[in-house]
Amino acid sequence: MSRPRLLLGAFLAALALGPAFLPEFYVTLLNYIGLYSLVALGLVLLTGVGGLTSFGQAAFVGLGAYATAYLTVAYGLSPWLTLFVGFALTGSVALLLGAITLRLSGHYLPLGTIAWGLSLYYLFGNLEFLGGQTGMTGVPGLSIFGFALDTGRKYYYLVWVLVIAAVFSVQNLLNSRPGRAIRSLRGGGVMAESFGVNTARLKIVIFVYAALLASLSGWLYAHLLRFVNPTPFSLNIGIEYLFMVVIGGARFVWGAVVGAGLLTILKEWLQGILPRIVGQAGEFETIVLGILLVLLLQRAREGLMPFFQRWVPPARWVNAPQSAAALPRRERPAPGETLLEARAARKQFGGLVAVNDLSFTMASGEILGLIGPNGAGKSTMFNLITGVLPLSGGEVHFRGARIDGLASRQIVRRGIARTFQHVHIRPTMTVVENVAIGAHLRGRKGVVAAALRRERAEEATLLHEARRQLERVGLGEHLYDQAGSLALGQQRILEIARALCADPVLLLLDEPAAGLRYREKQALADLLRRLKGEGMSVLLVEHDMDFVMNLVDRLVVMDFGEKIAQGLPRAIQSDPAVLEAYLGGVE
Ligand code: ADP
Ligand code: MG
Repeated sequence: MSRPRLLLGAFLAALALGPAFLPEFYVTLLNYIGLYSLVALGLVLLTGVGGLTSFGQAAFVGLGAYATAYLTVAYGLSPWLTLFVGFALTGSVALLLGAITLRLSGHYLPLGTIAWGLSLYYLFGNLEFLGGQTGMTGVPGLSIFGFALDTGRKYYYLVWVLVIAAVFSVQNLLNSRPGRAIRSLRGGGVMAESFGVNTARLKIVIFVYAALLASLSGWLYAHLLRFVNPTPFSLNIGIEYLFMVVIGGARFVWGAVVGAGLLTILKEWLQGILPRIVGQAGEFETIVLGILLVLLLQRAREGLMPFFQRWVPPARWVNAPQSAAALPRRERPAPGETLLEARAARKQFGGLVAVNDLSFTMASGEILGLIGPNGAGKSTMFNLITGVLPLSGGEVHFRGARIDGLASRQIVRRGIARTFQHVHIRPTMTVVENVAIGAHLRGRKGVVAAALRRERAEEATLLHEARRQLERVGLGEHLYDQAGSLALGQQRILEIARALCADPVLLLLDEPAAGLRYREKQALADLLRRLKGEGMSVLLVEHDMDFVMNLVDRLVVMDFGEKIAQGLPRAIQSDPAVLEAYLGGVE
């Protein structure tokens, strides 16, 4: 057995045997750690991985707790039924709040979560039928098939079985097609969208997922304590959940459990000794914890998980199989057919005209070079074609249909895939996972299938495709390296493999040869010729004239947003307007 598995086995065994040896006090503590872990786990997904900071998770815990407390006490419903009522309620509230707040960018999102965290807390405290600030007593305990979970030791097993199941569900989810999309959200979403990910929808999905985990925690809490009041669902506690995730390591699934454990134990311990040291009663632990957190953030931004991982080699979750069922491919256009047409495409940034009524056409099977000095508008033109930026005027047609006005995730669906001048990769993900994002639209299994690991066959085909494309571009030896460890030139080649995974008929490459050495450039040129031989069309932005001249069929030259020349490479090389633009006024 590998070391990570051995360690996991030992941990699970210790968890299972724990209550047999531990005093009551520690079992209670572990029960709380389990409840907190569930909430923290949601935050790992939402904040640590997805990059969406929420201070309001405690309010979702409250929704789960109050839903079950009220319905079991007032109507005598079974807790197993009210669990799902709680899910439905929390899920609906999360959907609504998510739809409103997730659109907010930057600091507005955390502020938004503070706002609804506060509102829900005051709602709990002010509703007469929920018992106001005093809360509700007489919440029934749980029993499973007539077996009463009437002691902390018995309850413990329910809590921890659910925690472990939740950990695995999140881990499964992150190591899947939707998981790769979630993990790519942090880059800002432009890349994910340009491979077909609906990032707005995905954000809401992880928001609801995290809220449901919090709701589950609330349900467990209500039936463990058999009493609810608003205090544990306040903004303070919402902040504490974030602390846990930061302490454990926001990027790491097990970091949720580590953080929940450490913060709870530390707090308990400080609560015991601080009043004795200070010599008076008070909540001094909060102050000390605050200072410790600041120190931690200075010394270890990634939390404590990386320290644990130092001793354990990371489990390799991805395995891109050497063979798998082939993915279906899209129908190719006939050679020579008009593929892409820009009609007076225009882009203005305020007073600056970055692309000035540019028109050109491209035939299927062609390699067309788009060249021009820095700032000529080449990358902007790419963004117009791929829907990253809206046009200020003009039209773009692809395979006979207008595509300007479509979102980039709809444009890639039609067969245009791109690379970026400034690479958009996820540096902490493996090379093969980065590339598999390109195949997003070629799979269809969603979040639920992924969490339950019911998508392994499809996943194998996607990872195999990523591997095949990486081998094709010459990165076959780096499949499981961290993408960030590649040289910049190789990262550009990675982006080509990712674009190829989308099964495009048109490839848009923005300065792919930048940062490559001479031999690597030759290999890239060979690759592009091979692709052309297979019927691929390529629109190539490039700076390196030698590289372009021997490769492209035709050139379009831009300067200050305008087309100043077009034609065969030989003719362009001696075109006076081009020489002037490039060399700056050769008389
Ligand atoms: P190229 O790729 O040919 O070097 P770009 O398309 O990147 O040129 O830029 C063309 C012009 O548009 C430059 O003057 C650049 O500063 C400007 N520009 C590009 N993107 C933006 C933007 N998002 N906002 C404002 N100006 C921009
Ligand atoms: Mg550019």
